[in-house]
Amino acid sequence: MNIDNNNTFFINLPSPVAEIISTIESNGFEAFAVGGCVRDTLLNRSPDDWDITTSALPEQVKAMFPRTIDTGIQHGTVTVMIGKNGYETTTYRIDGEYEDGRHPKSVEFSSRLLDDLKRRDFTINAMAYNNTTHLVDEFGGISDLNHKIIRCVGNAAERFSEDALRMMRAIRFSAQLGFTIEDATYEAILTLAPTLSKVSMERVEIELGKTLVSKNPDYVLKFVETGLFKEKLPLIHSILSDAHKIKTLAMLRTTKPSLILRLSALLNCASPDEARHTLRSLKLDNHTVDTVTKLVKYSKHSIDETEPAVREALHKFGKDFFFILLDHQEAGLAAREETTGIILPSLKMHFKTLRKLASDSINRGDCFTIKALEITGHDLIEYGLTGPAIGKALDNLLHMVIEDPKLNNKEMLIDILKQL
Ligand code: ATP
Ligand code: MG
Repeated sequence: MNIDNNNTFFINLPSPVAEIISTIESNGFEAFAVGGCVRDTLLNRSPDDWDITTSALPEQVKAMFPRTIDTGIQHGTVTVMIGKNGYETTTYRIDGEYEDGRHPKSVEFSSRLLDDLKRRDFTINAMAYNNTTHLVDEFGGISDLNHKIIRCVGNAAERFSEDALRMMRAIRFSAQLGFTIEDATYEAILTLAPTLSKVSMERVEIELGKTLVSKNPDYVLKFVETGLFKEKLPLIHSILSDAHKIKTLAMLRTTKPSLILRLSALLNCASPDEARHTLRSLKLDNHTVDTVTKLVKYSKHSIDETEPAVREALHKFGKDFFFILLDHQEAGLAAREETTGIILPSLKMHFKTLRKLASDSINRGDCFTIKALEITGHDLIEYGLTGPAIGKALDNLLHMVIEDPKLNNKEMLIDILKQL
């Protein structure tokens, strides 16, 4: 943290943020950078985005800048455009009860910064900063950052009753930052866990996803230990409550931080159908649902270390999935090594060999798709084939070419057809 002799914190605000704040101030209002960007900067992490909070009303903010977008004007948010970047600028507000969406049911604007900080979830997320006042930390955010603690602003049970998603956010931030959840906050989660049922799956998925791709993906266990997932995501609850727990947590730790791979590690012990059902209930997009289900299905599929076998696998799975599958299987191997303490160098070598065989084959331009065959359906029609026989013949020829790439030549393929 940057701190001077007078115990003043300094944050180097990006110039567009400083510009927006000083424009608002020169119009007679207050404005501060607030929330995640202040927290992350104090932790020397680079923030994803910079949010600004202000005493000016949305219409007043709009009048101050040439380019703005009405992002969530009924909730007080206007995006101010500076160059190509947008900065969400929100009027100080007092939130009503949250509904089953991203925003509270009703909001009331306020002219006091403190009201706006009070509505925020955790002390570390409730700090504001500008170049005139410097840091505003009314709830002990700095102290909690220093002690690595997640603590609600105000009474934890009340704050979780307003918005049950905050219970998941507490666990998500503890995973991202490696922080501990303060006792009273944790106790309130244990008590109110069943109320997560009120929250939409879209919001649950965002917090689960951020936890899974964090540096502590195994903190997902806390969603289960607190009872948060008992009814909301029963399959995940049961995987992490039974014999699969140790294996699954190990695999989460050994898997690369991509959402698809971490979801696959989480659901690897389930059947593909069960996995698909859970992924669907999380409202994930089709590509994610299909890829994860397929990774679970083929997690034990073995590929021989020969060029034709690798080409056959590239054909069956496609290039992209082939390499993701190897990542998934390799994480499974590393997890087994972690849980058993038995190191299997020959298996590690096996994955290295498969990767090399596949990239050599791709770089050589080997044929492993019907499209890459030197003969087309049209050629086969000319040759006299009709209907389903065309597809069948192409398929047969492709498997021969996969076996022996030298055969991928139009005349040779016609010759083969004659013999079939
Ligand atoms: P990140 O963007 O890295 O996920 P963040 O802290 O910026 O973390 P956002 O969800 O972008 O989180 O929210 C921005 C700020 O808004 C938070 O720092 C917090 O002050 C406040 N906030 C967000 N969601 C809630 C909520 N459900 N209840 C109370 N305050 C919230
Ligand atoms: Mg944010």
